[in-house]
Amino acid sequence: MSSVARSSSLPAALGGEPLSPALIPVSQPTLPPFDRVEGRFREVFETGMITTSKYVEEYERRMASYLGVEEAVAVSSNTTGMLLLFKCLGIRGEVILPSFTFSASGHALAWNNLKPVYVDIDPETCLMDPEAVARAVTDETSAIFGVHLWGNPCEADRLQEVADRHELPLVFDAAQAIGSRYRGRRVGSFGRAEVFSCSPTKMVTSGEGGIVATNDRELARQVRLGRNYGVGEDYDCAFEGLNARMSELHAILGIVSLEMLEGHIDRRLALMDRYRERLRGLPGVGFQRITEGGRLNGVYFSIRVDGEAFGLTRDQVYEALRAENIQTRRYYTPLHWQTVYADLAPRYEGRLPNTEAVARTSLTLPLYSHMSEGEVDTVCDAIARLYEHRRAFRKEVAS
Ligand SMILES: *Cc1c(COP(=O)(O)O)cnc(C)c1O
Repeated sequence: MSSVARSSSLPAALGGEPLSPALIPVSQPTLPPFDRVEGRFREVFETGMITTSKYVEEYERRMASYLGVEEAVAVSSNTTGMLLLFKCLGIRGEVILPSFTFSASGHALAWNNLKPVYVDIDPETCLMDPEAVARAVTDETSAIFGVHLWGNPCEADRLQEVADRHELPLVFDAAQAIGSRYRGRRVGSFGRAEVFSCSPTKMVTSGEGGIVATNDRELARQVRLGRNYGVGEDYDCAFEGLNARMSELHAILGIVSLEMLEGHIDRRLALMDRYRERLRGLPGVGFQRITEGGRLNGVYFSIRVDGEAFGLTRDQVYEALRAENIQTRRYYTPLHWQTVYADLAPRYEGRLPNTEAVARTSLTLPLYSHMSEGEVDTVCDAIARLYEHRRAFRKEVAS
């Protein structure tokens, strides 16, 4: 179907046929063919060495070499990795982070009895603004916690400057950012430590899993202890650890997934270019600005919908795309809006304007490594068709 024919018909939300006959999911893991893991799975079944053995060690070596760090510690998830990281850093008091992030960044602090101090983001890059971080530092501050959101790398050097000036550890939630670069260096070696996720929607997946990357050997040793309950010699624990180990089966999948990463990044960046090319002309559609000196990994593709200019609000676009069989996500409900952190909400009333504006207008579109150009075109056609029929939608845009 040509895009002319497509756009002249009614959007599904107004009674037309859905543009996509089958659901286009927002994200999907691209798994290797089973025969690439089969032999190693069989070996593990035969030896009975099912957890934290040679394949976990191999995965850690390969990750460390890919990321360009001394140590990569495999854990059961990014969340448990961050829990252990804050525990092992032994910090107390307040931690500066963006409110505009996935919930787990906040939970890692809460489980360590650390007090979050939210700072606003740059509305273009959607990343914590280093100036705002500098202003937020007080005597109570114990760490700076950046998030490379949607794979867009933080301005690590400017954050490091602030951290150095106040002698604070700088750490990153790098859950989404494997393969992203900043000033020619891969994310992973910035700050004291960075924590990746290997869950199914991330670019390298081991099924579930995470990686704590650091150049600090002692910190890595502590995290390794911590992922195994904190058990030292003679079962004497120096601190309360977790079971946050990675199984051998997960590590095997992770190893093969890492081998596919660079190809997947190229593919996704090409699909993102296609999205931008095709959506650029639509009034009210904006894109995340890439950090100067940064390169994305293509993990998620989020647009901004300016309801005034586009004619439909972000929420209307979300609903209308659902009617087209296109799944999108309203990433993210900022931490200070979440029920779990409601006690902090009054303090941030009106103080995080960029965070709130982005949270109200951003929409994450489908993107995965085996997505076809045709599927990208269908999503773009659906959005263009909504714009063309914007006057038929109930006006919900505040004037
Ligand atoms: C996915 C994600 C996490 C959680 O990762 P898990 O491995 O599922 O624990 C944390 N932070 C961010 C920013 C994420 O995107």
